[in-house]
Amino acid sequence: MRVAIVGAGLVGRLLGWRLCEQGADITLLDAQARDHKGTGLVAAAMIAPGTEAVSSEPLVERLGRCSMSVWPLWLEQLGEATGQGIYFNNSGTMVVAHAQDEGVWQRFMQHAEAKLGEDAYQHLDRVELEAQAPELSRSFDKAAYFPDEAVLDNEHLYAALAQYFDQNAVAWLENMAIESPPEDGVLNGFDQAFDWVFDCRGNGARSPQNTLRSVRGEVIRVYAPEVNIKHVVRLMHPRYPLYIAPRPDHQFVIGATQIESEHDTPVTVRSGLELLSALYSLHKGFAEAQIISLDVGCRPAYDDNLPRLGKHNRLIQINGLYRHGFLFAPTLVEEAMALMGGQTMQFPEVLHS
Ligand SMILES: Cc1cc2nc3c(=O)[nH]c(=O)nc-3n(C[C@H](O)[C@H](O)[C@H](O)COP(=O)(O)OP(=O)(O)OC[C@H]3O[C@@H](n4cnc5c(N)ncnc54)[C@H](O)[C@@H]3O)c2cc1C
Repeated sequence: MRVAIVGAGLVGRLLGWRLCEQGADITLLDAQARDHKGTGLVAAAMIAPGTEAVSSEPLVERLGRCSMSVWPLWLEQLGEATGQGIYFNNSGTMVVAHAQDEGVWQRFMQHAEAKLGEDAYQHLDRVELEAQAPELSRSFDKAAYFPDEAVLDNEHLYAALAQYFDQNAVAWLENMAIESPPEDGVLNGFDQAFDWVFDCRGNGARSPQNTLRSVRGEVIRVYAPEVNIKHVVRLMHPRYPLYIAPRPDHQFVIGATQIESEHDTPVTVRSGLELLSALYSLHKGFAEAQIISLDVGCRPAYDDNLPRLGKHNRLIQINGLYRHGFLFAPTLVEEAMALMGGQTMQFPEVLHS
C-alpha cells in the first residue's frame, strides 16, 4: 500500500512509523527542512490526562488515558527498533500554589473533584510532600498529586523516528509545501496515485474553509544543576500559571504562555519575565539556572479546542490537537488507522465530515 503523509510533525511522524511497521510504503512530505524546530519539538511533551481534563471537555481525559496506556509500549518498540533510549518519566504531576493564592488553589481543587472524582489524585500535606518531593516542600506546604501522568523527551522521540525512517528507507521530501492534499491520491510530481493521503499539516491547514486557528505558546528551557525535581510541577497562579516539565540531566522545560495569535515571532520580554519570575518563586535553585533556549510554537486548534479526523475518499485529515498533541497522538493515530482499514473506531465522536 502506498501512503503519502503531508506534514511530518508530531502526528505525521508517528503515523508514518506505525504504518511502515505494518508494511506500507510511506512518503513523508513537509514544508520545512527535516531539522526545523516545529510545534511538536517546542512542546513540553507532558501526557497529562487528569490535570488537563480539569479545565477541558470529558473527551480530553478519555483520549488522554487511552494514549497514556499506549506510549510506554510504543516507546519500548521504537527504542528496540532504533537502539535509541527515549526518556519517559511517569512519576506523575504535583500541583502546587503559594499560600497567598489559596483562592486559585481552591478553585482548581473544586473543579478537579467535580470533573475527575477524588480517586484521580492524592492530597499531600507538608510531611507527605516532603517525603515525595523534598525540594518542593521548601516552598509549599501542600500539593495535589496526580500519579497517572507522564512526560517524555520530544527531542529523543523525533531523533528516534528520524533514524527509524532512515533505517527503513522511507522517502522524506523536505521543503515541499502541499497546499491542498488531494482526495483522489494524485499528487503532482508523482507518476502513480497513492492509495491513501494523510493531511497532518497542523497550522498549515488553516484556510477560510475551516475554523482552524493558532494559539501561540512560549517556553523556556533551562539547565539547573541545583534543582532535583523529578515530577512534572504545575503552579496555580492568578496571573502566571506555570508548568515545569523535567528532562534528563537537570534540564527543565518551563511553560507556557497561551496567546490567541498565529505569529511565531521570538519570545517577548513580558512573557520571558512572567515565566522566569514565577519559576524563581517555585524553587530558589532556578536563580542560577542557565537559559538554554526560548522557543515559540503555534498550537493548531478548532473553536471547541477538540481534535478532529476527517475522511474524504482517499484523504484522511488529522488536526486540532491544540495543547494536547502528546496527550492525543497515539490514540488519534490508531483511530485514523482504524478508519483507513474500515474498522470500528473507539472514539467515533472525533470523526467530522
Ligand atoms: C509551547 C507549547 C507547549 C506544548 N506542550 C504540550 C504538552 O506538554 N503536551 C501535549 O500533549 N501537547 C503540547 N503541545 C501541543 C503539541 O505540540 C501540538 O498539539 C502538536 O505538535 C500538533 O501536532 P501536529 O502533527 O498536528 O502539528 P505539528 O507538530 O505542528 O506538525 C505539522 C507539520 O506540518 C508541516 N506543514 C505545515 N504546512 C504544510 C504544507 N502546506 N505542506 C507540507 N507540510 C506542511 C509543518 O512543517 C509541520 O512539520 C504544546 C505546544 C506548544 C506550542
